[in-house]
Amino acid sequence: MTHNLLILEGDGIGPEIVAEAMKVVDCLQSDYGFQAEIEHGLIGGAGVDGAGDPLPEATLDQAKQADAILLGAVGGVKWDSLERPMRPEQGLLRIRAGLDLFANLRPAILYPELVDASTLKPDVVSGLDIMIVRELTGGIYFGQPRGIRELENGEKEGFNTLVYRESEVDRITRVAVDVAKKRSSTLCSVDKANVLEVSELWRNKVTEICDEVGGINLSHMYVDNAAMQLIREPKQFDVIVTGNMFGDILSDAAAMLTGSIGMLPSASLNSDNKGMYEPIHGSAPDIAGKGIANPLATILSVAMMLRYSLNEGELADKIETSVRQVLADGARTADLGGSMTTSEMGNAVITVLKSN
Ligand code: NAD
Repeated sequence: MTHNLLILEGDGIGPEIVAEAMKVVDCLQSDYGFQAEIEHGLIGGAGVDGAGDPLPEATLDQAKQADAILLGAVGGVKWDSLERPMRPEQGLLRIRAGLDLFANLRPAILYPELVDASTLKPDVVSGLDIMIVRELTGGIYFGQPRGIRELENGEKEGFNTLVYRESEVDRITRVAVDVAKKRSSTLCSVDKANVLEVSELWRNKVTEICDEVGGINLSHMYVDNAAMQLIREPKQFDVIVTGNMFGDILSDAAAMLTGSIGMLPSASLNSDNKGMYEPIHGSAPDIAGKGIANPLATILSVAMMLRYSLNEGELADKIETSVRQVLADGARTADLGGSMTTSEMGNAVITVLKSN
C-alpha cells in the first residue's frame, strides 16, 4: 500500500530536522518495503515568504489529500511584527482547524540513558512515561468573541472566550479512553471545575463517557494541582486528558521533566486518524542554521505517524528501538550535553535502523 505523505519543513531549524527525519523515511523505503508518495508544501514564515500566507490554500489542499503530514516547526523573529493573521503560528492553528485535528497526543518519556538530563532528581523521573491527550481545536484559543476593545473611559480591554461543547468533550474523551486502554486503563482528567462552568460541563461529560465505556480508572484533578503534582510526583500519572490551554502548558512542563525539548514528538489526529506529526518544540531561531539541533523529536514523530495514521506499528517500533540504541551508545547533540551535529545524529539512527 502506498501512503501519501505531505512534508512541511516550516521555519528555523524545521528544514534541518525534517531532512534527518526524511533520511529515516528513505531508509524505510529502501530497506523495509515501505511505500510512500511524498509531496512538500509551505507553511508558517515560509508560506508568508513564498505565497503571501502562513497557510497557503495550496498547502491546505495538499494536506486534505494526504494520509499524514510531517511538520518541522514554524515561527521566527522575521515575522513577529506582522499583523496577527499573517504570523507563522496562525498557519499552524489554521491547518489544525482546517483538518479538524482535535486530538493532540503528547508523550513524555524519559529514556533511561537521559535520566541525568532532567532537572528533577533521578528517583522522581526515572521510568517516566506519560501521555497527555490535549484538546486542540476548541477552548479559549478558538472561542468567540475575542479581541481588544476600548471602553468608554478610553481604557483598553482584552477578552477571549473559553467555551466547550459536549460533543467536543465527548470526542476527545473517547480518544483518551482508547489511548488509556492500550496502557494501564488509568485516566486523569484535568480541569478547573471549582471556578469555571465550562470545566464543570467538561468533568460531567468525561465521567459520563468513562462510565459508559467501562473499565477505566478515572480521576479528576484541578489544573493548578496537576501542575504541582507533575513536578512533585510525575509518575503518578499515566494518561492525562485536558483542554487546549491547560494541555498546552502542562505538556511543556511534562516535556521538561524528560530533560530536553528536542526529544519529544507529538501527533494531532482527526476522527479518521488522519494526523499531523511534529516535534513539540518550536523553530529554535537561536540555533537555526548552525546544524546542531536535535532531530530525534522529529524522527520519533515519524514513528508516531507510522503507528497512528499509517497502521505500520512494526516500523514505528523499529525507529523507536533505533533511537534508544543510539542513546545507549552515547550519541548526544548539544541539548543533551554532547557535541554531535544534527546530521551526525540522523546518520547514527540510520546506521542502527539498517542493522535492525
Ligand atoms: P523553541 O522550542 O523554538 O525553543 C526553546 C529553546 O529550546 C531554545 O533555546 C531552542 O534552541 C531549544 N530547542 C528547541 N528545539 C530544539 C532542538 N530540536 N534541539 C536543540 N534545542 C532545541 O521555543 P521558543 O524559543 O519559545 O520559540 C521560537 C519560535 O518557535 C517562535 O516563533 C514560536 O512562536 C515558535 N514555536 C513554534 C512551534 C511549532 O511550530 N509547533 C511551537 C512552539 C514555538
